[in-house]
Amino acid sequence: MKIIVLKFGGTSVGTVERIKKVAKIVTSYVKKKFKVIVVSSAMSGVTNDLINKSKKVSKEFSPAEYDVLVSCGEQMACALISGRLNHIGYKSRSWLGWQIPIITEGSYKSSRVSEIFKNKIMIYLKSGGIPVVTGFQGVNIENRVTTLERGGSDASAIMIAKFFNAVRCIIYTDVNGVYTTDPKLIKKAKKIEKISYEEMLEMSSLGAKVMQPASIQDARLNRINVEVKSSFNNRSGTLITKRKNIKNNKIISGISFTKNDSKITLVGIVDKPGIAASIFEPLSKNFINVDMVVQNISSNGKETDLTFTIKNENINKTEKLLKSNKKIKFKNILITKNVSKISIIGVGMITTPGVTYRMFKALAKKKINIQVISTSEIKISVLINKNLVNKAIKTLHQEFGLEK
Ligand code: ASP
Ligand code: MG
Repeated sequence: MKIIVLKFGGTSVGTVERIKKVAKIVTSYVKKKFKVIVVSSAMSGVTNDLINKSKKVSKEFSPAEYDVLVSCGEQMACALISGRLNHIGYKSRSWLGWQIPIITEGSYKSSRVSEIFKNKIMIYLKSGGIPVVTGFQGVNIENRVTTLERGGSDASAIMIAKFFNAVRCIIYTDVNGVYTTDPKLIKKAKKIEKISYEEMLEMSSLGAKVMQPASIQDARLNRINVEVKSSFNNRSGTLITKRKNIKNNKIISGISFTKNDSKITLVGIVDKPGIAASIFEPLSKNFINVDMVVQNISSNGKETDLTFTIKNENINKTEKLLKSNKKIKFKNILITKNVSKISIIGVGMITTPGVTYRMFKALAKKKINIQVISTSEIKISVLINKNLVNKAIKTLHQEFGLEK
C-alpha cells in the first residue's frame, strides 16, 4: 500500500473556494493510486481569533481549556474538506486527534506526539476511504485534548507519515518552497530543489518561516522525506531529505537573517569561574532568549568583556536584571539596538576550506562592519547594523553563486 500524507496549511484552506481546490488536489493523488491521509490546519486567522477570545475571558485562562478551545479550528477545516470530498463523489470522513487516537506527552499548549494508533485509519484506507485528520491536536493519558506548539500541524503530518510508513509527506502552503533567501527582499532568490534536514533546521530556526522548526527535527529523526510546495499552483516544491540524496555542488545552500536584535556588552567584568552562569541564570529564569555570546580573553587576567544578543523587546527587562544582579560586577554596560544576524548555511562548508574568509572579505569590500561572529559546523553568523542587511545579503548571495 502506497500511503502519502498531504498536509494543508491555514491559507491553503483559508476560504471555501480554497477548500474546493484542496479536494481537487487530494483526488489527483487518489487517481494516481495513492492511499491518501489528509492532515489539515485551521483556516487562516481562526486559531489567532480563538486565542484572543481566551485572553478576553481570562488573563490566566486554563491551559487545558485553552487546548480544547484552540484545537477547534482544525475540526472545522477537516469537516469542510471531507464534506467537499463527499460532494464530488469520494468516500471520506474527518478524524479528530482523540478519535484515532494520537497520543501526546508533555504539557498543554506544547505537547509532543508520542504514539499513533493505526488500526482504524488502516481499515478505513483499505476500504477506499480518505481520512481527513486534524493537525495540531492530540489526547494525553488523562484523556484530555492537547495541542502541539503553534504551527504544530506540520509536526502532526510528519508523525502521521512516520507511524503509517508513508512514502512521502507533502506540506502544502502558500509559497513555492524553500528559497535561498527571502524572495521578498532579494529578487534573485532561487527556489532550492533539495535541502538536507540539517540545513533546513538552521534555516527555519533562523527565521525562514516555511515550516515549524520542531517538525523538521521530527522529520530528521525519522528520516521522512518532506516536500514543501504551494497549493496555489502546480510547480514542484522543495524536497527536504537526508544529505546522501543530495548531489549539490554549492558550498552554501541559503542565507537567513534576523531582525530586531540588540547587542549588550558588559565591560570590565571580573574574570572568574561561574561568572557567565551568574549573568545568564536570571535571564533564563525570565524566559529571555540569549542568542550569540562572545567573551573576550582577558588581557590582564582579571577583567574581561562579554557580549551577547537578545531580541529588542527584551532590552528593558534585561538591563534591569543585569543592573540589579548582586552576583556580578562590571564597569559599564553598552547597549546597541537594531542589529541583525546574517547567517550563511550549507553542509558544503564542512569539506570546503576558506568559506569564513570569503564571507568576511565579501562583506569588507562593501564596507560592512562585522560586530560579532559565531560559527557551527554548517553555519557562519555575523552581527551587523540592521540598515545594512539588504546589502549584506545581496553581496553574499552573489559571492556564493546562489542566483545561478
Ligand atoms: N492552527 C494552528 C496554528 O495556527 C496549527 C498550525 O497552523 O499548524 O498554530
Ligand atoms: Mg502553519
